[in-house]
Amino acid sequence: MAATRKGIQLESKTTPPPLESGRWDTVETISRDELFELQARRLRWQVERCSASATLYRRKLTEAGAEPGDIRSPDDLVRLPVVTKEELREDQAVSPPFGSFAVAPEADWREVHPSTGTTGRPVNTIWTAADVLTITDFTARTLVQAGVRPGDVLQNAFAYGLWVAGMSCHYAASKLGCLVVPTGAAVSSDKQIEFLLAAGSSALCATPSYALHIGEVLTARGISPDELSLRIGLFGGEPGAENPATRTAIESALGLSAHDYYGLAEVGPTFASECEAKEGLHFAEDHVLVEALDPISRAPVADGELGVLVFTHLTREGTPVLRYWSNDYARLSRKPCSCGRTHARAVGGIVGRHDDLIIFKGAKFYPSQVEKVIRSHADVSSEFVIEVARRNEEGVVGKCTVVAEHAGPADATIGEELRRALRAELGVGVDVRLEALGTLERTTFKAKRIVSS
Ligand SMILES: [Zn+2]
Repeated sequence: MAATRKGIQLESKTTPPPLESGRWDTVETISRDELFELQARRLRWQVERCSASATLYRRKLTEAGAEPGDIRSPDDLVRLPVVTKEELREDQAVSPPFGSFAVAPEADWREVHPSTGTTGRPVNTIWTAADVLTITDFTARTLVQAGVRPGDVLQNAFAYGLWVAGMSCHYAASKLGCLVVPTGAAVSSDKQIEFLLAAGSSALCATPSYALHIGEVLTARGISPDELSLRIGLFGGEPGAENPATRTAIESALGLSAHDYYGLAEVGPTFASECEAKEGLHFAEDHVLVEALDPISRAPVADGELGVLVFTHLTREGTPVLRYWSNDYARLSRKPCSCGRTHARAVGGIVGRHDDLIIFKGAKFYPSQVEKVIRSHADVSSEFVIEVARRNEEGVVGKCTVVAEHAGPADATIGEELRRALRAELGVGVDVRLEALGTLERTTFKAKRIVSS
């Protein structure tokens, strides 16, 4: 069936590939040329409707000296300035409650989801009735991509409610033909384990920190992963699943194949996952156009180079973003993956968030690098925080201490080994403090890794 929406022909699959092929939609393997044409057609529709109704985007086009008709294909996007979260927030303050970029007719609005920012007011996003269907469809694709199949029992430990991923994964797993166990993130790890055992859950969605905690509790209770039925896990909400040490820790604790999962409230919810080849996060590029830009010049960087991910909604009706500056750093590849999919990948996952960059004694590093060291060290637990003093806007800190936990009995040599490994990874010497196991706070949502000392 094909649905017509106000000028855009949204081709939904007429002949879905058999799921044994490992794919949900034939669009996943179309040639880059065909994909480009599809993106161009959808982009023209989106730019046209945004410039007609959203003051925010009309102003941006005018400032850039461009007409909506100048943006004909993804190649023309460089003419359009990026939009930041702050600008979306300001637009919603000026045109409350959802901003001038809420361009769909009010009668079509179905769900509101705010971003979960730790600073400032959230940006509220709207999903229309058609958005809910589209999101459900491409999220089902991301689940299949990772190996989830009809008949799987999917335990959804992503937060439900306002957070976007809980809802999208629930809808998608249901559409795919799974039995959903909607535990959410508001229950204890013990409760999650009860359901993993009782329902025979074969797939799990959670943040990597939550998955590690569930694994820790399993070990403490003397339950072997062999007693669970888990086969596949999708871990998102924070980077980590593509960190080799974290992946190994999750896989061995839970006895499953761990896949990275990505989304963000303003764009997402869940539009990129690792396929079975695990060669990077595949984006649903027919719905969300992805670019990587230089953080200073904001010019596109070559594939393989580290850049800030910038997203453009091609099919979103409710609150579309055009060139949204995500603050997330990654390396893109548009080479076909060994799985046969042609859509762009973030190889190695999300390297870090611009907001999390730490500059200490001239060295720059991300919490993900500390995580890599901590989680490859057998004598410490998987938990850690980075205590920083006097952190300024640019991320420069005056003092930096990595706090970790002994996995077993305290041993003075462990701290020294860790200090050496951290210096090698970060390029700068940081202080290390080791606490007893269980001292650091465990989280079921997103772990806060940087704290002020
Ligand atoms: Zn692939």
